[in-house]
Amino acid sequence: MGIFRRNKRSSVVDHSPVSRGDCACTEHIESLLTDVVAFAPAMVMDDEDDMTVGALIECQGLGIEPADDVWMNLFDQDGLGERVGPFHWRLWVGDEARCMYDDDAPLQLNEALLAQPGVDLIEWEDREILHVGAPTLCADGMLAATARALMEPRIKG
Ligand SMILES: [Zn+2]
Repeated sequence: MGIFRRNKRSSVVDHSPVSRGDCACTEHIESLLTDVVAFAPAMVMDDEDDMTVGALIECQGLGIEPADDVWMNLFDQDGLGERVGPFHWRLWVGDEARCMYDDDAPLQLNEALLAQPGVDLIEWEDREILHVGAPTLCADGMLAATARALMEPRIKG
């Protein structure tokens, strides 16, 4: 008698984030840890020291987790819903990172992030959370893309 094996998942597309090694990232976060991220002049009260990408991550101004919701239902002003996704990553952009971009700048942080290689979709929730669709980026590559976006001069105002 032969073994009859059926792949139950064959019809389900897997939207799990890719692991490092299976990714197509152009760079990973360790190559940027000592790079300085400038503050947005309008956002800084005192003469604060420049902050490196590594310090920003260490103080939890920047973090990443796998997406909690792969799909989100977004509603416009008329209450019409739209299913948006897939999302792979959930970025935390906390208080320290808040000083690094200006809402009145010619380029917004989400736009700068969307311009990074491998980033397909951004949904900004509240101030600190960005949902990102990036099917080919691992966590370290996604962090690198976010650091690059935070270093973009046009978000500084
Ligand atoms: Zn990677």
